[in-house]
Amino acid sequence: MPHNSSLIGDHAGLHELVTAVTEYAEGRIRMQPPLDHPRSVEELTAEVGATITPQGIGGIEALNLFADKLAPTCLSTDHPRFLSFIPCAPSDASVMFDLVVGASSIYGGSWMEGAGAVYAENQALRWVADLVGLPEQAGGVFVPGGTIGNLSALVAARHRARAQAPQGSRPNKVAASEGAHSSISSACEVMDAECISVPADDLGRLTGPALAEVLDAHPGEFFAVVATCGTTNFGIIDDLASVAQVCRERGVWFHVDGAYGGAGLAAPSIRDRYAGIEQCDSFIVDPHKWLFAPFDCCALLYRDPAVARSAHTQKAGYLDVLTDTTDWNPTDYSVGLTRRARGLPFWFSLVVNGTNAYTAAVERTLEVARFAEAEIQARPELELARERDLTVVVFRRLGWSPADYHAWSDRILADQLAFAVPTTHHGETFARFAVVNPQTTEDDIALVLDTMR
Ligand SMILES: *Cc1c(COP(=O)(O)O)cnc(C)c1O
Repeated sequence: MPHNSSLIGDHAGLHELVTAVTEYAEGRIRMQPPLDHPRSVEELTAEVGATITPQGIGGIEALNLFADKLAPTCLSTDHPRFLSFIPCAPSDASVMFDLVVGASSIYGGSWMEGAGAVYAENQALRWVADLVGLPEQAGGVFVPGGTIGNLSALVAARHRARAQAPQGSRPNKVAASEGAHSSISSACEVMDAECISVPADDLGRLTGPALAEVLDAHPGEFFAVVATCGTTNFGIIDDLASVAQVCRERGVWFHVDGAYGGAGLAAPSIRDRYAGIEQCDSFIVDPHKWLFAPFDCCALLYRDPAVARSAHTQKAGYLDVLTDTTDWNPTDYSVGLTRRARGLPFWFSLVVNGTNAYTAAVERTLEVARFAEAEIQARPELELARERDLTVVVFRRLGWSPADYHAWSDRILADQLAFAVPTTHHGETFARFAVVNPQTTEDDIALVLDTMR
């Protein structure tokens, strides 16, 4: 008698589970998602308690447990008035295809195992590379997020710098803008490298002259410069053209962190602000931020992928069949080995909707951010912190203390009206909206601003 496992195979309850899960997924995609709110561990322990038992509780009951008790304690990042941090508003097609990827047991690390998936992911990467203006031989990999993308790019940069450095010299410094993301200093920490912050200009940008001063104070010690095209807190785009020139003149690797703001490359109305980006040695953008893909998805690109390959390829006897070929193995271009073909939901949605839909969606969010900025300028109790570059708007409520901002933020979440946590800059507390969801409307913005009167 063959043993029929309930883990895998056509066991009792499979049909029911498939129906319930697909119905749940469809329902979630179609609904206006509730904002929801977190619960304390104590509350969840009282409400949910231990869920894992020796016998198991069965698929339907487990799904109901998730749907009724757990999901409502997770914020819906795709709610149109989720305006904190950087929201995530994945397209319907990308969400549906995420289910397909999960059901397909594809190993996305090597060409041998995942040829078609890798082929498709590479087309999505090529679309991004074309937006940046990278040459034909550019390539890369989809990694879990900007943090791993930045780390991987910096590891490749250091690899090249050390290969080229004179005997006995080990370049160990990274220069980054003041507004660079926390993941840059975190990557430097991991690499035991030194991150040097370059003073910003009046507009908060990294510029060539300021960078040159820092680089020239320690010649031969820098292995990378990180510019940001869309800082997370304010959406500031560094002066990429002058930074690129300074890097080129000194032969230092030029990395551009576009985790959030790189998506703006798809918007013709602001494309000129990125001038110089085409000279980068590496680039990242998180499609899970402003390009309508589900978590977790960061596109990492290199001008010269061979350098990254030589920095990242893991060598082991059992992997020789993969690494002793000229195949394109995505895993060779980042930190990590096993990988989900996580670029496929993004690719599928591009194929389904066409790139014009992406341009239109990014432009739409810019329009709503423009409205938010104008509305803030028009309301006497509000004041912009600085002019907006992309879709992040940071502003003051005149007369409010930090405690007032937090109380307001807590109240509008408790009322299930919006999720908009305050931010700080140079010790001052501000309100901050990040708009990356094309479902967010002018009315949504006005509704939230009305609560600040
Ligand atoms: C979000 C962000 C990151 C980090 O990306 P994760 O996907 O959260 O790891 C890096 N840089 C910038 C500019 C970001 O906005």
